[in-house]
Amino acid sequence: METKLNIYNTLSRRKEVFEPVNPPFVGIYVCGPTVYGDAHLGHARPAITFDLVFRYLQYLGYKVRYVRNITDVGHLTNDSDDGEDKIEKKAKADKLEPMEIVQYYTNRYHKNMEQLNTLPPSIEPHASGHIIEQEALVQRILDNGFAYVSDGSVYFDVEAYNKKYHYGKLSGRRVEELLANTRQLDGQEEKRHPADFALWKKATPEHIMRWPSPWSDGFPGWHLECSCMSQKYLGDRFDIHGGGLDLQFPHHECEIAQSTAAYGHDAVKYWMHNNMVTIKGKKMGKSLGNFITLDQLFSGENEVLDQGYSPMTVRFFILQAHYRSPLDFSNDALKAAEKGYERLMASVTALDKIVAGKENTVDVDGLAEKCWEAMNDDFNTPILIAHLFDGVRVINSLVAGNEKIDRENLEKLKKLYHDLIFDILGLRAETESVSRDHEVLGKVLDMVMSIRTEAKQKKDWATSDKIRDELKAAGIVVKDTKDGYEWELEN
Ligand code: ZN
Repeated sequence: METKLNIYNTLSRRKEVFEPVNPPFVGIYVCGPTVYGDAHLGHARPAITFDLVFRYLQYLGYKVRYVRNITDVGHLTNDSDDGEDKIEKKAKADKLEPMEIVQYYTNRYHKNMEQLNTLPPSIEPHASGHIIEQEALVQRILDNGFAYVSDGSVYFDVEAYNKKYHYGKLSGRRVEELLANTRQLDGQEEKRHPADFALWKKATPEHIMRWPSPWSDGFPGWHLECSCMSQKYLGDRFDIHGGGLDLQFPHHECEIAQSTAAYGHDAVKYWMHNNMVTIKGKKMGKSLGNFITLDQLFSGENEVLDQGYSPMTVRFFILQAHYRSPLDFSNDALKAAEKGYERLMASVTALDKIVAGKENTVDVDGLAEKCWEAMNDDFNTPILIAHLFDGVRVINSLVAGNEKIDRENLEKLKKLYHDLIFDILGLRAETESVSRDHEVLGKVLDMVMSIRTEAKQKKDWATSDKIRDELKAAGIVVKDTKDGYEWELEN
């Protein structure tokens, strides 16, 4: 059995046995959202992919610090060094403070992440909260001779860097081609070479989000925050850096260059990239205008949707593909995921109905081994789920009495399914948990209401009113009816 976790490292382009830099601690840094709009299906994929990584490493016993940033400054339109700040543009359009935009969409992002049952990161730093640290990093890169000041802005000197190190080692791009292929853009005359990128930008007079610096009143370049905040919270050598494949170039390539220019080495041991969500083969994105927000996906309110899909259906849909494979959205694929998710959940319920006997015909150890092998093979969730479905057939045979299981194996099987489905895949029972809460609350209310009826019969109005008022304060509206009472939760 493959007991060691293997991770595909985008940098070495092969699977490597996972060995933490500083066991038992593991540091993970994942590029989070730029918060100027609602999260869409494309955001759900990295969030769920790295939630799986976070959950599994914790399950293996590591002490994991998971840092996922919020980009709230410096990310310019078209991901270039020119144009408007995405947050500021939205703030001007909505006549709001940039930080109101940031707070509003951060809150909504958190709500969506909670719906998808992703665990909150250990630290969620904001770029705007780390301006001083980013300026210090710019100074360090300047001091090391890998950046230059040009009219109040600071640019990374790709050519100087590439003489000593290797710019393009992550994405496989060649500097010569980058220099030749990058077309001249407005404002690029400030740069020595088109491939150079901004570490600090001088703000134009109308630019709102600005801070003082030794070079100008301005703001940090987009790539800088991740080099800076990962180092601050995880050190200059840490384990895993994750993000979407679309961030590989230029964002992560630039991060490697910045960290190497500052510290003399790349900070990251394993680079992990999730593949994209596509619609009819085309990448989904806000700028592409073909995105489906998570709220729309859950409610069904988007013309491309036949129906709404629950958060756990969406989570299951994402986990059914390996994180490095492309995933194409379609109603049929989501409907299939809905059925698959429900079947898996039904098997967990069925497990509780099975009675252990003395005989055993089920190879639980064999099934477990296959499941862990899949997880250890670069988090291969589609293979894992296929094994879990093999197990579902066995569970159904046990329920039907066609197979037999003893107590020890039944306990093992229950633990295996519980650990994999809930703790590692991060699925949760949706409709059942809601109706179960409702059921329990109903029983408690019956009890409370019978006390109220007794009080009324004794003409103890104080108690009866107190019960009514306190239920109301708790958000439970009770109406007396002919046959007893009705209740509902206040919206
Ligand atoms: Zn980043």
